[in-house]
Amino acid sequence: RIVYVNGAYVPEAEATISVFDRGLLFADGVYEVTAVIGGKLLDFAAHMARLRRSLRELALPSPMEDDAILAIHRELVARNALDLGHVYLMVTRGAADRDFAFPPEGTKPSLVLFTQARAAIETPEATRGLKVATVPDLRWARRDIKTVQLLYPSMAKMEARSRGADDAWMVEDGFVTEGTSNNAYIVTQEGTIVTRSLSNAILHGITRAAVLRTAAEHGVRVEERAFTVDEAKGAREAFITSAGAFVTPVVAIDDVPVGTGMPGELTKRMRANYLEEALRTAI
Ligand code: PLP
Repeated sequence: RIVYVNGAYVPEAEATISVFDRGLLFADGVYEVTAVIGGKLLDFAAHMARLRRSLRELALPSPMEDDAILAIHRELVARNALDLGHVYLMVTRGAADRDFAFPPEGTKPSLVLFTQARAAIETPEATRGLKVATVPDLRWARRDIKTVQLLYPSMAKMEARSRGADDAWMVEDGFVTEGTSNNAYIVTQEGTIVTRSLSNAILHGITRAAVLRTAAEHGVRVEERAFTVDEAKGAREAFITSAGAFVTPVVAIDDVPVGTGMPGELTKRMRANYLEEALRTAI
């Protein structure tokens, strides 16, 4: 695989980054994951807008303009003949002597991109649905910034796996915040989609925005509000969204089946509608 590191396209085995890189020492960096279908990028402009916001919130310097970043995405997709999967992008504050204070102005940010091939459409998860286990949300209070500080979500996923589930839903003050790497939704018995409103408590998912737009276009009712674990267990359907999973059904929460215990009809429709719209606008 060919990867991009700080200006160079190199085979992955030859890619290097400084041991002093602040991404490594402090998780001082942000990232984006953009889905690729048929060699095209989904929701690219929205991912760049969120990247800009993450950089700004952390006073991280921008490595380059959006069109130059787009060119790197396309070059990597081409060089790796990527049909289906995603492009990962990471910006860190660069390499400097280890110090909690940010390095002097002019320190070059690091920019790393790579592709991962993944059979993202016909997945077993999409067909059979996910089981989730609830865990306390012990992350920091700025989950709206897409930082590479992912240790807790990683631990939460392992905790869920140890309980026989596929993923975790994180819970704060009795309300579901989100999944380890996705936004969380339920469908009420009346057929309304409920998902937590945007705040610093969750990542502002690009797929979330697209799915809510699609719901509005198809006349599906949406309520943006927090929901409890109990409400979720009594819901008709549940699902998650992310650039990696698109719309994926959730069929059990803490071993309690959601609805029939099978992927829900509205969920399946939302997945199809989302994919159709995302493909139509892919670049
Ligand atoms: N929430 C968290 C914590 C995430 O890490 C992600 C994606 O990685 C999402 C939500 C979904 O965001 P998006 O739809 O932009 O992939």
